[in-house]
Amino acid sequence: MAENPIDSKGAGLANEKLVLTLLRQHAQLSQAQICELANLSSSTTSYIVARLREKDLIVENQGESTKRGAKPVFVSINPKGLFTIGVEINPSSLFIGLFDFNCQLIEKIRVLLDTDRSPENISSKLEINLRGLLSKHNIEYGKVSCIGVALSGSISKDGVVELSSPLSWKAIPLKDMLTAKLNIPVAVCTTRVRLLAESSIANNIDYSNVLYLNIADGVGSHAIIDGNLLHGSTNRAGEIGHIIAIPDGPKCGCGHKGCLEALISGPALAKKILQDIKHGQKTTLKDVVNSEDLPEVIISKWGQAVQQKDEYSMKLCAFIAEHFSKIAASTINCYDPNIVILAGYVTKQCFDYLETAIRETMATDVYDNTSRNIQIKQASLGTEALIIGAAKTAFQQYSA
Ligand SMILES: [Zn+2]
Repeated sequence: MAENPIDSKGAGLANEKLVLTLLRQHAQLSQAQICELANLSSSTTSYIVARLREKDLIVENQGESTKRGAKPVFVSINPKGLFTIGVEINPSSLFIGLFDFNCQLIEKIRVLLDTDRSPENISSKLEINLRGLLSKHNIEYGKVSCIGVALSGSISKDGVVELSSPLSWKAIPLKDMLTAKLNIPVAVCTTRVRLLAESSIANNIDYSNVLYLNIADGVGSHAIIDGNLLHGSTNRAGEIGHIIAIPDGPKCGCGHKGCLEALISGPALAKKILQDIKHGQKTTLKDVVNSEDLPEVIISKWGQAVQQKDEYSMKLCAFIAEHFSKIAASTINCYDPNIVILAGYVTKQCFDYLETAIRETMATDVYDNTSRNIQIKQASLGTEALIIGAAKTAFQQYSA
């Protein structure tokens, strides 16, 4: 780190980031403690603290007086110094989270989408609702440091959505589009960031080898192996949703037929339930679901019917388990995790059932299963996992 107070711009910014990181780790520090922890001279520390004060990124509070004399001044992060936005784009809604400078969620809003899911329409809706959210909290637009946007699909390293089957998008330069529209740095990320969000709240759990299996609007897996989040050569690692489960089965948004996602994703299951009811299927769901319900709502009602032992709904559980547990076991063989997390609004409704089915399949399909101790657990974060992960990704890229 630069020791000269009149340091270069780059070194100065690096020192500011270092001090902000230390303040996030320790909540509050005196200037003397910052000097020691950052290994900076006292003049450089004073200079950096003054710069952060000018930018309104820190607050200073006087501590209790000590026997030695003057009351120490403690520096901490100003949570209202800057803000980050986390966004999830899914086929039915735009989910927007406002985060403070400590990356804590202040408020989340869900904006339902109509049939126009074009990137242009979604960008406009994002801008309007973002401005509304900021104005509600009296936050100036310029105080937003960055935006993280997450969606299901394959995304290139420069933020082009190469394919999103749930949104039916192909080759959309989303990062460039949103940066031009919003005039704020944008990070476009895959749903893999859910695992980043989940691991950030895992107290005292070793998340070095984790497999995250998600069934929601899409079906996918993410893995941290040997401490590294896997991306792959084209950022498509873990696309289990597009493994063919039934050759010549229902058409998938990716263009192939019989993908796992076309069978057991929330929208696929909701469609199947509505079609089966239309064709005269006997089920208690007949009286509670209707075709205008969002997939997530239909799946939640299906979960209640499973609890009430509705025969049709139980059979649907078995259908999901049959197709999912086989692919889950294969994925465990590939990655060798010690923790498997089941996430998404579909698994939430049938976690116990799926866990049992995966364990049974592991007994026959997973190599040397008896000598391994693989935990299967439910995701801790619910619907906000993606906005937290997207905000953290953008924050690490642009603000941290
Ligand atoms: Zn597919």
